[in-house]
Amino acid sequence: MSQASALRSDAGGPGRKPPGRVSPLSQYVLKLTSRCDLACDHCYVYQHPDQSWRHQPHVMAASTLEQAARRIAEHAATHGLDTVRVVLHGGEPLLAGAGGLAAAAAELRRRIDPVARLDLRMQSNGVLLTPRICDALVAYDVKVGISLDGDLAANDLHRRYASGQSSHAAVLRGLGLLRRPEYRSSYAGILCTIDLANDPVAVYEALLAQEPPQIDFLLPHANWERPPARPEGVPTPYADWLLAIHRRWLADGRPVPIRLLESLLSTASGGATRTEAVGLGFADLVVIETDGTFEQVDSLKSAYDGAPATGLDIFRHRVDDAAAHPMIAIRQTGLAGLCATCRECEVVRQCGGGLFAHRYRPDTGFDNPSAYCADLKELIHAMTPADVPAQRQPTDALSPTVLDDLGTGYGTMESARHLASVHLGLVRALLVDLSPRAAHDERAAAGWQLLVDLDRIAPEAVRAVLEHPFVRRWAQRCRDDATADLAYLACVAAAAAIRAGADAELTVPARDGALSLPTLGAMAVDADEEAVLLSVHDGGFTARAGGRRITVRPGRPDVPDGWRPVRAAVSDGHHVLLEDTDPYRDCFGAPVAARLPAATADGWTRQLTRALRRVDVEAGGYAPGLRTLLRAVVPLRADEGGMQRSAAAGAAFGAVAVAPVADDAALAVLLVHEVQHLKMHAVLDVCDLFDRHDRRRLVVPWRADPRPVEGVLHGTYAHLAVADVWRRRPGGAAAATFRRYRDWTDGALDALLDLGALTAAGERFAHRMRDTLDSWS
Ligand code: SF4
Ligand code: SF4
Repeated sequence: MSQASALRSDAGGPGRKPPGRVSPLSQYVLKLTSRCDLACDHCYVYQHPDQSWRHQPHVMAASTLEQAARRIAEHAATHGLDTVRVVLHGGEPLLAGAGGLAAAAAELRRRIDPVARLDLRMQSNGVLLTPRICDALVAYDVKVGISLDGDLAANDLHRRYASGQSSHAAVLRGLGLLRRPEYRSSYAGILCTIDLANDPVAVYEALLAQEPPQIDFLLPHANWERPPARPEGVPTPYADWLLAIHRRWLADGRPVPIRLLESLLSTASGGATRTEAVGLGFADLVVIETDGTFEQVDSLKSAYDGAPATGLDIFRHRVDDAAAHPMIAIRQTGLAGLCATCRECEVVRQCGGGLFAHRYRPDTGFDNPSAYCADLKELIHAMTPADVPAQRQPTDALSPTVLDDLGTGYGTMESARHLASVHLGLVRALLVDLSPRAAHDERAAAGWQLLVDLDRIAPEAVRAVLEHPFVRRWAQRCRDDATADLAYLACVAAAAAIRAGADAELTVPARDGALSLPTLGAMAVDADEEAVLLSVHDGGFTARAGGRRITVRPGRPDVPDGWRPVRAAVSDGHHVLLEDTDPYRDCFGAPVAARLPAATADGWTRQLTRALRRVDVEAGGYAPGLRTLLRAVVPLRADEGGMQRSAAAGAAFGAVAVAPVADDAALAVLLVHEVQHLKMHAVLDVCDLFDRHDRRRLVVPWRADPRPVEGVLHGTYAHLAVADVWRRRPGGAAAATFRRYRDWTDGALDALLDLGALTAAGERFAHRMRDTLDSWS
């Protein structure tokens, strides 16, 4: 089993609470059966690496179905979902027979219809369709998609019985039934898997002849380990194949919706995708296997044995638990969940990195472009009208409501929490991507397994550590640099174990004479010490290094020699760490202070506490963002020229860095200013407010050098808040400072809006800032 699969199979457990906000799931694939009457040689259920079907019961038991329906209804009610889609699946669901299908549909409708609209569907090979079954489908309003790969020759390439006999005639018989007026309402469409050996137009015509309400073309499942079959010297054969159909389809006047092509056209003009194969729509889907286990999407069966497993099931776990599963959560982070290449790609809004399963590579997991990257790019370029700019669509990663709220410059607690959950999702996604590499490093592997176990029994402790700003920075560094310290994962896990009060033994790395435990502090060790054996127990730990043995209980007043606890400022329950130990805090483009002496640190924490209170009182509109997002302040070295210095960095989301400040009022302004940068970083992590390919620069009043659009957006957003703080302060000097910042913001907003580099979402965001500014006059 790969390391990644170990995380997934272990990530659940009785009573597990979802770690943080859960994005609800509204689509379910329900495996009524696990066997099939056909033996298609391209079938991902039986012919691909995952062989879990062998351990499944042939048919879902009535009690399992009831529990599944209960779970789905419970989840819909909890999250107030309007619509839930359930797809009856297999194997071949028709093997359940007319009675089994009717019973399943009745039970699902009985439980779910009172809570949410149930969109009930079935995916079938169609060969067992009978009038009796069709009657049941119509009675329970079940829409059926039928798999067919084209005409007789095309279909027979793969879709045969185990005897080798053709299934084509039987499928056509089934389709004939669905075309009958009395059954037509249950005909959802045809699903066709592409084979380059088949003539695309002949396939299109054969499918069209079945008068389907919709056609869906699927790329055959492949990944970087098992790449798509390509004729030699043809760089983009799948794009060519689909483009031949696209041309004919346009010439025919688009007689039937083709889901893949329509989704690409829709996303080109800022619309939504209708398939998880392309686009950045969230993957809000989970599979319920015949035995009641939750699995990830079926297409992952093509990656490796055990790939779709979650370790969760409908009897012990709620759907919320499945939604919080790292590999399901990662697929709900939109743009942020993609690899660096895809995030930078000019067609990412349309492509979305392709189907998740097609990104798999054994060494890097799913942190790759699609194995069909070249084809997808070519297809999109060839299909997209030249006058549609590919990157200017608003994103769906942040709802318009949240974006509008943040655009005012302020932001409610709810919006700030949304940004925090985006950050947490990103960190989790980074860790999942690192997991295959962690398997090859003993300390990292042990840390990974401990983290997975803790996520099951103490998710809040794991969350507290993963939200620490510098964990993200460390993880990003590991992602971008193969020589970075992956073994630090053991330190991350140890910190979570200590916070959870768990027992664990692990070896953690030491670097430059210190062993660091994120959120807790650091311990001095000999400079040549590279590893320390840690026994975690009773909310503390005992470290054995260089013949010494030290026991530390973080939070207790008795601080043993060599332990440097992180100190914190506290204001009305809001803890902000004074971070002067974390080895990854050096990311602000300015020299950070070394470990502060106790008296100096005491002065810092007291001043921080006063400044936090001051924000509450005089700049309350910014307090929710600050209270929710600010987790650490990093002391910078004092500027020799006496300049006031502060900074925030997207890579260390949740931290701001500040050089010593003369008074509380100035510190309050700096905190508000830098937290605005954090908010903007978080928004830009998942939402394109501007065209990233636009290299133009703008002259701004607060800098001598022209700034890129991103810099101007950041500056404008921060200065809007600073102006607001000064606006509320008494005195002529404050009024003058207010006017200066207001005018800077005003001019920069005009310049941004005039430049034409903002996306639709960016323009909307800028107009919200303008509304706030205008409201002051
Ligand atoms: S009909 Fe579907 S489930 Fe059955 S073997 Fe063919 S592809 Fe697999
Ligand atoms: S075309 Fe390739 S690089 Fe671009 S988003 Fe798609 S898979 Fe990623």
